[in-house]
Amino acid sequence: MCPGVGAATCPGVRAASSANMDIGVERWAANGLLPNHDVSGMLRLRSPGPATSETMSEHLFPRDEYFMRLALREAERAMEHEDVPIGAVVAHGGELIAAAHNERELRQDPTAHAEIIALREAARALGTWRVLDAVLYVTLEPCAMCAGAIVLARVPRVVFGARDPKAGACGSVLDVLAEPRLNHRPEVAPGLLAGECGELLSAFFASRR
Ligand SMILES: [Zn+2]
Repeated sequence: MCPGVGAATCPGVRAASSANMDIGVERWAANGLLPNHDVSGMLRLRSPGPATSETMSEHLFPRDEYFMRLALREAERAMEHEDVPIGAVVAHGGELIAAAHNERELRQDPTAHAEIIALREAARALGTWRVLDAVLYVTLEPCAMCAGAIVLARVPRVVFGARDPKAGACGSVLDVLAEPRLNHRPEVAPGLLAGECGELLSAFFASRR
């Protein structure tokens, strides 16, 4: 991997994703890992025209992309140990307080998802289990476990990249973060850099075939 660079500037990732991008995205969609509307969304995001509200949340701020790019950089690091490239960061008061990536294979731990590790790091940094006044950025829609942890940590805002129709718990399979019976409902902004987040995953799975 290329340390310290984003997916867009990493020659290895760019080569892998450009070689496999089309078939990778198709397969990604065929496997049910990316819904058709996200594939078209990815194409729209690459087009010169402005992104539509169908593909990206309207509740995004200029700093959101900066932090999502940090999460993408984390995602790349997961591939150094053969983990599925998913990254997460936590910003508090505009400052980065946690950055983590998927370490399930590395630790042989089914709970070592990027969001869980990042939330633990954020709680340590804040000295409290309540991760208030914070934004969690993650490259893939959180699963049920991570969405549960987000609720328990009282994270007020979540921004995620690609959707995960097979395990996503922020509207795809379940909608834990919008469940009115739970005592905390974060604001959710989906679809930020969804194309790049999805391409990284497609390239990873294509390289393993
Ligand atoms: Zn998870």
